[in-house]
Amino acid sequence: MNYDDIQKLFLEKGFFFPSSEIYSDAPAGFWDYGPLGVNFKNKFIESWRKNIVRRDSMIEIDGSQILSKNVFVASGHLDNFSDPIVRCNECNSVYRADRMITDISGDMISEKLSDAEYDEKIKSLDIKCLKCKNSLSSVSRFNMMYDVGIGPKGDASYLRPETCQNIFVDFLRLSKTMRIKLPIGIAQFGKSFRNEISPRQSLLRLREFYQAEIEVFYNPNNVDVLDEFSTVSDCILNIHNSDDEIITATCNELVNRGVLPNKFIAYYLGLVQQFYTRNGLSLEKTRFRILPDDDRAFYATHSFDFEVLTSVGWLELVACNNRTDYDLSRHQKISGKDLQILDNEEKVLPHVFEISMGVDRSLYSIVEESYHKDGDRLLLSLKPGLSPFDVAIFPLSNKNDLPSFSKQIFNDLKLDFQSFYDSSGSIGRRYRRQDEIGTPMCITIDFDSIENNDVTIRYRDSMDQIRVPVSEIKNKLLEYYNN
Ligand SMILES: [Zn+2]
Repeated sequence: MNYDDIQKLFLEKGFFFPSSEIYSDAPAGFWDYGPLGVNFKNKFIESWRKNIVRRDSMIEIDGSQILSKNVFVASGHLDNFSDPIVRCNECNSVYRADRMITDISGDMISEKLSDAEYDEKIKSLDIKCLKCKNSLSSVSRFNMMYDVGIGPKGDASYLRPETCQNIFVDFLRLSKTMRIKLPIGIAQFGKSFRNEISPRQSLLRLREFYQAEIEVFYNPNNVDVLDEFSTVSDCILNIHNSDDEIITATCNELVNRGVLPNKFIAYYLGLVQQFYTRNGLSLEKTRFRILPDDDRAFYATHSFDFEVLTSVGWLELVACNNRTDYDLSRHQKISGKDLQILDNEEKVLPHVFEISMGVDRSLYSIVEESYHKDGDRLLLSLKPGLSPFDVAIFPLSNKNDLPSFSKQIFNDLKLDFQSFYDSSGSIGRRYRRQDEIGTPMCITIDFDSIENNDVTIRYRDSMDQIRVPVSEIKNKLLEYYNN
């Protein structure tokens, strides 16, 4: 299935849709999550908590989305978080210089060239305004942060462009209140905001988006994760190196062959791979791309983008960066607070390994890989635990006592499982509707059900049907979800 098929599914079934859509002035790059999207996202995040955050005894915060100006003085966003843009001298259309050059030349252009280098390329390729063909201005910079005024005087502050800054700023308090011992992962799930010049492709490039970020604070003189490493040592990764080669090997082999720098980093890459495999992305379509020096942030010693191959090309889902002590040292300098902590008698400013996940595009990628045609039915084969609904309940008919008997079953399930009740249309059509939104189990109640106190459970993937006593329904659901 391609991008358009996925869009159709999202819009028609109520997963996601454009924000403010009944108004003609709705800005691009903002999407609402509908009921199915909310359930799907919540379950994805619960899986992230269970398989990464809780598994490693990390701690989680939920910080405010508006942060003070000084936070972004320290982080460097005020000075550097900008895109190169050009303006049409005639019609004032605005374009991102790097994307425009990439689109026209067909070559990938780095986001990190100087303004003069972009000007040179635009001149040599003779690029004109795409709308009116007139000449373009020289390159200038556009900061992507949304500034928001606080109070009547509009004191300067900003919507966070990434969730990790709360974690760095809160580190001092957390280190005291939570009696932190290194290494420690601090996690946050929430919204971030970037004023993209040309948002596109619905969930793939948004101006307001979800991130699930983890910053692992560690003592660079004492990187010891050998116990935990054994849980990923046999996990296979595809590493795309800077010579454009793919190296497929276990985490253990990758460290031994020097492809990955150490077990500490290999451990977290293994966790990411295991998480996405569990949630439905196949190894064949995923890779960790080692970022070359000129694409890496200047302070990062190692950067890996976890990418997935989709119908619109390779998509970056997770940025994994060794950020060293850049963040804490900058916040220490600008705030004047001592952010060092004691690690076994040694006073240390921790280093940080970051695992920064784009949630919206992860959801898109999982749906694209799970949505397919099976004969004449459309099937969303989401992994157990990710489907918007766990179970659907169908009374065969609306006659006699069937509706009240069926409602009773629905009411018994709905607090423990995301349950959906549907009493309209033929049973075949009701099955099809649930297949397409990924509901793994449907329960049908027929006239024998009342007499025998049993129901038919039908499974999405195999279409197998089994007859079970009403008292066994919850066990059957748990059996499926715990598998
Ligand atoms: Zn123009």
